Amino acid sequence: MSQQKSSNPQRPTIGATQIRLLERLCNACAISGDEGEVRKIVLEQVRSHADEVKVDALGNVLVMRSGKAENRLRVMLAAHMDEIGFMLTQAEEDSTYRFDTVGGIDIRQLAGKPVWIGHEHVPGVIGAKPIHLTDSDDRDHTFTLESLRIDTGLGKNSKIQLGNRATFATAFSRLGGSLRAKALDDRLGVATLIELVKNAPANIDLLAAFTVQEEVGLRGAQVAAYALNPDLAFVLDSTPANDLPAWDGSENTRYNTRLGAGAAIYLADSSTLSDPRLVRFLIDTAEKHELAYQIRQPGGGGTDAGSIHKQRAGIPSVSISVPARYPHTAASIARLADWRSTLDLVYQALCNLTPEIFAADR
Ligand SMILES: [Zn+2]
Repeated sequence: MSQQKSSNPQRPTIGATQIRLLERLCNACAISGDEGEVRKIVLEQVRSHADEVKVDALGNVLVMRSGKAENRLRVMLAAHMDEIGFMLTQAEEDSTYRFDTVGGIDIRQLAGKPVWIGHEHVPGVIGAKPIHLTDSDDRDHTFTLESLRIDTGLGKNSKIQLGNRATFATAFSRLGGSLRAKALDDRLGVATLIELVKNAPANIDLLAAFTVQEEVGLRGAQVAAYALNPDLAFVLDSTPANDLPAWDGSENTRYNTRLGAGAAIYLADSSTLSDPRLVRFLIDTAEKHELAYQIRQPGGGGTDAGSIHKQRAGIPSVSISVPARYPHTAASIARLADWRSTLDLVYQALCNLTPEIFAADR
């Protein structure tokens, strides 16, 4: 319950400490429904900065931090702890396992990828038929999920149980001004939200939700928004950048977002039409503080905002994402500068939020 708060919140920054924390978050395994490893890190980071911390029945971490001003808005900030991955469903002969996918995964990405299994990160591989044994017909067809197995090479291993989750075995690395890791979607959001809890401005009540089961249908956010009952919500996520040349080498004109162009503000995605007052407010804030931003192009995909905005009597919501290339694969790439722009934008927006934002016409 009540904890001692740090007395002097200040503008959050991203330096070596925050990058090390992101590294721990990305290397943790937290496939939907089994978010414990990330939850543990979140609890350790936020406890001493919060007025109240709860873990709800689904596993969401709900953090309350009250401000001091009069007429404070209750602002929900959500970031999902879970990542896409696999679930072991059946043991076969010779230490191989049938598995199912958890969340949106392109089966063509899987053959030949090393994985970590369970809480002990037991190493394995999603085996692929080697080229020596394939014919041209094989090579023209993609694998089916039913034909793939996770191979642990260990004989019977008591550390592995059916229902265990597995994830791509990709260790975090920093590549100059870029970051390469699995699960940047949405550990970038989780790391951003941790910094905002630690440095919450006093003009609002900050209601942070580190949510579960986003990748299987925005499930944790649904109950978190009900419990927190906020006036509005910002959702912090990572969205695909689609900024490489088209297959024939021509310029790609159908980008979703681009690396290096700053925080991505959503107008709409397949699950939400963003509240236009919040979109305008974010753009004005970015312009005023000269922060890099881009408008994420409308289209597929969704964030926790999809369930939050429909909760109770409706909650004005908008999403802000750090763009990353290749999400939901073994390794994605994001830019440090985009992460910084996103943290700066959300922090400045929070500092300037007042109830007048809802006085304007839509
Ligand atoms: Zn996400």
